Amino acid sequence: MTATLYIIATPIGNLEDMTHRAVRILGEVDLIAAEDTRHSLKLLNHFGISKPLTSYFDHNQQLKGERILNALRQGKSVALISDAGTPCISDPGYQLVRDAVAENISVVPIPGACAAITALSASGLPTDSFTFAGFPPSRQGKRRTFLSGMSSLPGTLILYEAPHRLLETLHDIREVLGERQVIVARELTKMYEECIRGSVSEVVAAVSQGIVRGEVVILIAPGTAVQMEREPLEQVLHRLMADGMLSMKDIAKQASEIACVSRSEAYSEALKLRNGAD
Ligand code: SAM
Repeated sequence: MTATLYIIATPIGNLEDMTHRAVRILGEVDLIAAEDTRHSLKLLNHFGISKPLTSYFDHNQQLKGERILNALRQGKSVALISDAGTPCISDPGYQLVRDAVAENISVVPIPGACAAITALSASGLPTDSFTFAGFPPSRQGKRRTFLSGMSSLPGTLILYEAPHRLLETLHDIREVLGERQVIVARELTKMYEECIRGSVSEVVAAVSQGIVRGEVVILIAPGTAVQMEREPLEQVLHRLMADGMLSMKDIAKQASEIACVSRSEAYSEALKLRNGAD
C-alpha cells in the first residue's frame, strides 16, 4: 500500500453493517487512527484486526494530525475511523483530510453507515434536497438563532441531538420554525430502533411521556410558504437599523419578536453589528 489516507465508515450500532471493504482495508493499513482507541479496539477485535492504533480526537488533533501526516509523508497508509458512522460527519477528521489534500496525499473514502443518511432514507420526507446541520447549539438563545437561520431553506432539515436536550430542541423548533412535520429517529440499526413521527406538538407529546434514551436524529419537513417567511435575526437587525429612527432597545425588542429570539440576544447581536459597522 502506498501513502493513502483512508476515511473508513464503521457501524452506528449494528456490527453487521461493517462492510467487507472496510474490514479488508483496516487489516492492510500500516496505522489506524481512532477517535477513541479503547472503543475501536472492541470493533477491531470483533473482526480479528490487529494493527498499530493511535488516537485522533478533537483535543489532540493538531499534534496527532501532524504525526499522522508525517507517517503519510513517509509513504505509510493510514485509516481514520471514529466511534461510529462516517468520520468527519460531526466527528473528527476534517482538518486531517484538508491538510492531506493540501499536500496532494491520496485520500480514499470507504463508505458505510451515517446516521443522518440512514434516518433520511426511511423518513418519508423529501430526499431530493436536504440540509444536514449537525448538532444545534446547546444554549437556547443560540439554538433559536441557529434554527431561525434555517427557516427559509428548502428541503428537509437533519439535526443530531443529545437525548437529554431533545425535548427543549423540539420546543424551539416549534417556536422558531412553526408546527412542521418532524421525525425523531432513535437508536437506528439497534434493538430499540424507532421512528417517532408527527407534527412537532405530537412528537413532543410522545417524547414527554418517558425519558428518551440512546441516540437520536431529528428530521424536519420543509416549511409551508408562510412558515418559511420568518426572517433570520441578522437580516431583521440590518433592516431595522437601516431605518435609523429606532433606539437600540426598540430594535432589540422588535427583532426579538420577528426573529423569535430572546431580547437580550437580539440586543447583543445588534451591538455587534453596530460596532462592526463603526
Ligand atoms: N459520524 C457519525 C455519523 O456518521 O452519523 C455521527 C457522530 S455524532 C458524534 C453522534 C450523533 O449521531 C448522535 O448524537 C446522534 O445524533 C447520531 N447517531 C449516531 N448513531 C445513531 C443511531 N444509531 N441512531 C440515531 N442517531 C445516531
